[in-house]
Amino acid sequence: MKPTNSERHDRIPNLSHSRLQKYITCPEQYRLYYLERLRPKREAAARVFGAVMHLALEEYFRKERDPLATFRTEWNGCREFELRYSQRESWQKLSEIGEALLGKFLAEEARKFEQIFAVEAQFHIGVSNVAAPLIGTLDLIAQLEGKKTLVEFKTGANDWGEHDVLLSDQLTIYGLAEPEVEQTAICVFVKKRVPEIVWHFTERTPGQQVEYLRKLEILSQHIADHVFYKRVGFWCRQCEFLPVCTGNEKKAKETLVRLPTVRGETPCMIEGGDL
Ligand code: SF4
Repeated sequence: MKPTNSERHDRIPNLSHSRLQKYITCPEQYRLYYLERLRPKREAAARVFGAVMHLALEEYFRKERDPLATFRTEWNGCREFELRYSQRESWQKLSEIGEALLGKFLAEEARKFEQIFAVEAQFHIGVSNVAAPLIGTLDLIAQLEGKKTLVEFKTGANDWGEHDVLLSDQLTIYGLAEPEVEQTAICVFVKKRVPEIVWHFTERTPGQQVEYLRKLEILSQHIADHVFYKRVGFWCRQCEFLPVCTGNEKKAKETLVRLPTVRGETPCMIEGGDL
């Protein structure tokens, strides 16, 4: 049965890049996460590591706190939690990589920031033809190379490719949120034994922004209409919901937990982390 207009309106959540990206990757993954409220019992170490690095940089730009000190405190605190490490990862390895990356940042990159305008700035954009706002948080707005620059920090096993930077929806959203900035930069902290910090600068044309807004309209309609299906691909290998999709109930019970429903909260109000 088709939803009424009022039901469709209620079903559209505040839209964020991470929420939309989950739907684009696999609508069934979105459903299991936001509507069934399933979560892994053990969080991925890479995700937690990224969040700790983010926090270290945030505290540095907000309070001038030594990022190495923040990293050590937070990452040591993570040692007592059972995290999911990939074959190549361990708490110790990530600890060494984090220290090396932040040391390199302090030695070579920190002086490039001439003036700080905003740290972790939240935005909320109303878009015509989309019933819910687009929300998110900008890592940093700073003066860089004489230009007002929106900076997004990333940690990853690899650098971003040129096409990733040119086509990133996240950077298009940020351009819509802060049209006054002169350039957008991605600063990638590459998790290698020999640390690498790579900068990419990019811009968005009005045509690219219009194209993205059309996509946003389509996605929000599909989410409101509960258009869910399994989008199978190589990403399933890393999906925490694979045991559900393959019918492995024993493993699903061992690895997943369902969040309780909070009174007054609809599934649309649950937000995922953008790490
Ligand atoms: S295992 Fe694959 S099909 Fe199933 S939810 Fe995850 S990404 Fe989607």
